[in-house]
Amino acid sequence: MAGIEERVREVLGRIPARVAVVAAAKTRTPDEIRKALAGGIRAVGENYVQEAEVAQNALGRSAAEWHLIGALQRNKAKDAVRLFDLIQTVDSVRLAEKLDAEGRKIGRVVSILIEVNSGREPQKAGVLPEDVEAFAREIAGFSSIEVRGLMTLGPALCAPGALRLFFAETKRRFDELTRLELPNARMTILSMGMSDSYREAIDEGASMVRLGTALFGPRREDG
Ligand SMILES: *Cc1c(COP(=O)(O)O)cnc(C)c1O
Repeated sequence: MAGIEERVREVLGRIPARVAVVAAAKTRTPDEIRKALAGGIRAVGENYVQEAEVAQNALGRSAAEWHLIGALQRNKAKDAVRLFDLIQTVDSVRLAEKLDAEGRKIGRVVSILIEVNSGREPQKAGVLPEDVEAFAREIAGFSSIEVRGLMTLGPALCAPGALRLFFAETKRRFDELTRLELPNARMTILSMGMSDSYREAIDEGASMVRLGTALFGPRREDG
């Protein structure tokens, strides 16, 4: 089996240059992340504040652009603002308010994506597609956050072809939100698509994909 660095080069070679690739690094060691960076990865996605801290202690804060792609608890907002260049999972006004406050304290504008629950799954994180505009308007007065775009996962256990529908709807919401020109929005990022679905996501307008197994190989828990 090819090494991580080789696999990363191969995958990056197949993805159009206009699409940013985030290496989804959950359960990966700093050494594995280092190999992905050597292969040409520039952004690393972490699901937990704690894992980002471990990786950054080993590799350095400036080794990559760091994204939070997992759920964020409000009591970790302060750490998140320090550790991440982009927080992809904002889905509540209270969280946005907290990030805004933490950003203001340290004189920084916090870049965020609004997470969309495009599959309308009851237990899943994210704002419902039909609520995205109202949500964005509600947080538009927070001047220490900047809404850079939208992120979605799409329903789990959904075949890549079937995911297109959810990606397409998220793209539609992205375009609508862009046209609103809200004061704290600079909409350039549409983050959707993972290892099994990134081709479909790119077809449907993704400007950023989040890849784990395609770059690193199967996770240890997966066998
Ligand atoms: C794990 C993860 C990914 C990548 O998943 P793969 O199927 O391994 O590519 C992408 N996005 C999020 C939010 C994740 O947690």
